[in-house]
Amino acid sequence: MNDRQIFFPHGARIAVLTQEPVGTLDYLAPEGGVRLGQLVVVPLGPRRVMGMVWGEGLGGFDTAKLRPVARLIDAPPLQPEMLEFMARMADYTLTPLPAMLRMATRAPDIDQPPGQRKIIHRAGPPPERMTDPRAAVLQVLEDHGGAGFAPSELAQLAGVSSGVVQGLVKSGTLAETLAPRDLPYPRLDPSLPGKPLAPDQAEAAEALRARLRQRAYGTTLLRGVTGSGKTEVYLEAVAECLRQGRQALVLLPEIALSSEFLSRVEARFGERPGEWHSGITRMERRRLWQMAATGNVGMVVGARSALFLPFSDLGLIVVDEEHDGSYKQEDGVFYSARDMAVLRASIAQAQVVLASATPSVESWVNAAAGKYGRIDLRARYGSAELPDMAAIDLRREDMPSGRWISPRLAREVQARLEKGEQSLLFLNRRGYAPITTCRACGQQVGCDQCDARMVEHRFQNRLVCHQCGETKPIPQTCPACGVEGRMAAVGPGVERLAEEVAERFPNARASVLSSDLFNSARALKEAIAEISAGDTDIIIGTQLVAKGHNFPRLTLVGVIDADLGLQGADLRAAERSFQLMRQVAGRAGREGGDAKGVALLQTHQPDHPVIRAILSGEDETFWDAEAAQRQAAEMPPFGRLAGIILSHPDFPIVDNYAHELARRTQPLQAIGAELFGPAPAPIARVRGRHRVRMLIRAPRQAPLQAAISDWLRVAPKAPSNLRLSVDIDPQSF
Ligand code: ADP
Ligand code: ZN
Repeated sequence: MNDRQIFFPHGARIAVLTQEPVGTLDYLAPEGGVRLGQLVVVPLGPRRVMGMVWGEGLGGFDTAKLRPVARLIDAPPLQPEMLEFMARMADYTLTPLPAMLRMATRAPDIDQPPGQRKIIHRAGPPPERMTDPRAAVLQVLEDHGGAGFAPSELAQLAGVSSGVVQGLVKSGTLAETLAPRDLPYPRLDPSLPGKPLAPDQAEAAEALRARLRQRAYGTTLLRGVTGSGKTEVYLEAVAECLRQGRQALVLLPEIALSSEFLSRVEARFGERPGEWHSGITRMERRRLWQMAATGNVGMVVGARSALFLPFSDLGLIVVDEEHDGSYKQEDGVFYSARDMAVLRASIAQAQVVLASATPSVESWVNAAAGKYGRIDLRARYGSAELPDMAAIDLRREDMPSGRWISPRLAREVQARLEKGEQSLLFLNRRGYAPITTCRACGQQVGCDQCDARMVEHRFQNRLVCHQCGETKPIPQTCPACGVEGRMAAVGPGVERLAEEVAERFPNARASVLSSDLFNSARALKEAIAEISAGDTDIIIGTQLVAKGHNFPRLTLVGVIDADLGLQGADLRAAERSFQLMRQVAGRAGREGGDAKGVALLQTHQPDHPVIRAILSGEDETFWDAEAAQRQAAEMPPFGRLAGIILSHPDFPIVDNYAHELARRTQPLQAIGAELFGPAPAPIARVRGRHRVRMLIRAPRQAPLQAAISDWLRVAPKAPSNLRLSVDIDPQSF
C-alpha cells in the first residue's frame, strides 16, 4: 500500500470541505509533509475546517503568504483510485467537489477526538442490584450482539445518564478498554464448501468466476425470478473475489431487513461480513472505514452509501435488486448507487453483478446491446413452483362501498384459513384512508405546508402528511365550512383493510406490515419472524412485504388494487408497477413450502398491458415493449435526461427565475438538447416551498453535464433563498 502513496513535503493543494463553495486552496505542509488523499484540518479565516489533500499545488510554497495545515486527521489517506471516483462522480452529478468529498467522509465521523477512543463492552455477571436504567444499558449491548460503544453513545442509546454506564463499569458488569478501531474483521473463508449448485446455477457461477479472473472491469446482469438462486450464485462470485485476495461489496436496498442475509453469508464463509447502514454504531462505522482502507475487511454488506468506503482493493460489487428505487438518492447529491457502482468498478478494474428478477429497462437495454453481460436463471431452485396468476375483474364483482376484498378473493382467503395456510393482502398505501373529506362542502383536508392531502392514520389517531411528516388531529368539524360531524374517510389504506379483515375473518390472526407502524428495525424483524414461524394467518402489507422475506406457509397473494400504479404521466409508471406486482406475486409458494401458490390481482383493467404481462409471465416481451417505447420517445437509455428543480417560498419569484433560465438556453441548444417546462413539480409545494421543474432531454452521446454547467454559469444571479438542484438521470419523468 505504501508504494501507492504520493507524498508532498512542502505544501499541497487542499480541497476545503466547507458547506460554502470555497474550492481548493494551497497550504503549507506540517513537518513530515502530507500525503495525497489525506484528511487534514486547515485554518480558513478564523475557523478550522476539514480538508483533503487533493494535489500538488502551485509550488513555491511561500511561508510568508500561505498558512500551514493545522493538523493531520488520524485516518488512512484516500487512494488515487478513490480520488478519481470522487472527481468523476462530482462531474457526472454536477456536484461541487467539496460537497462530494464531504458526503463521502462525513459518514464515518472520521475526525473523532482522541478522547473518545474508550469502548465499553460486557465483561462480567449482571449487577446485584438491577434497575431499569441498568437493564436498558444491558439490553442495548445485547441487541447489538457484542458490539462495543463509546461510553457517551451507549448512554445515549439506552436513554440513561453516563453515570449509569460508569456504575456498571465499577461493578464489573461492563469493562472499559481502548477502542478496537484497528481490529481487523475476521477473515471469511472462501474454501468452505457452498451448497451444491443446480446445473444452471453452476453454469452461471462459473461464468461469473471466469469474468472475475480477468481482473478487469465488466458488468453482468444476473436475472432470475425470486427464489431462482441468484444469491447463491453471486456468493460464488464473492468467493472467487476473496480467493484472489480482493474485497467484495454487496449492496442491498433494505439493509435493516438483512439479518437473514448476514446469516447466509456466515453459513457460506464461516464469519459475518462487515455491515454498513444507518443502524450501526459510530464506532463500528469508523472501524469499517479504516479496515476497508487497510484491506482488513474482505466483504462488506451495505446500503448505498457503502459505495464510498475507501476499499484498498475492490474486486466485485454486487447490486442486489438493482431496479430498486431506493438506490437513487434524491437530496444533497443526487445519484444512483447502481450507476455509480458501475463507475467505481470501471475505475477499480472490478466486476459488477446486477441481480434482479425484474431489471430496470436501462439495464435490460444495456444487456441487450452487449454493454453488459447477461445470465438468466430460468427456474426456481428445487421444487418450488411459480404461483398461478389470475385477474379478478372488479367490474364483475359485487363490491359494496367501503369494502375492498372481493367475494372471490374472500373465498380464497377462507379456503387458506381452513387449510392452515397463509394469505397476503397487498395494498401499497400506508395509513387508514388517503382522503379525509367533508360531506357537507366537499373540501378535502390538505397539509398547510405542502400541496398534498393529509392521510388518516387511525392507529396514531392523527392525520399525517406523507410529504413532510406534519401531523394534525382528525377534525370533527370541517375546517372549511364549520359543519360538525360530517367528516368522512375515503378510500382504503392498509389500516382500513385490516379493519375489514377483522370484520370478515374474526378468528384469523392478522398482522399489518407497514413501515410507519414499526419504530425500530428490531420491531419489524420480530414481526417478520413471527410471520415466518407461522403465527399469522393473514398478512396485510404495503411494499415493505414485497422484498426478500421467505414465508414458507404463504400460498395466496391478493393484490387489492392492481391499478394503483398504472395511471400517471410518468413514463416509468408501467415499469415500476410491473416490478412491484411481480415481486409481490413471487411471495406465494416459496422454497420450503410444499403447496403451489396463487396470486390474484384485483383490477378494473384486466386488459392493461402491465396486467397482461404479469399474468402471462412473458416478462421479456414486456421489457422489449417498454424499451421500444423509450426508444421511440428518445427517452433513457436511448436519450439522456436531466431534471432541474427550483424552489422558493414565493411562487412568483421561483417561477420568474425559471422562465429567465428557460429564455437563455443557447448552451443547451448547442448540443441538440431540448428544454421542457418550467412547470410546477408533481408536488408543487413541499414544506412551504414552491417547486418548479424543468426537464432537459439530450441525444445519448451529447455532453449533457458540460452544457448544463455552461448554461447555469451564464444564468442571471439567483434571488436569495432560491434553491436549485440538478438531477442527472431522474427517476421520474
Ligand atoms: P434469489 O436470490 O434468486 O431469490 P436465493 O439464492 O435466495 O434466490 O434462493 C432461494 C432459496 O433456495 C433460498 O432459500 C436458498 O437457500 C435456496 N437455494 C438456492 N440454491 C440452492 C442450492 N443450490 N442448494 C440448496 N438450496 C438452494
Ligand atoms: Zn406536508
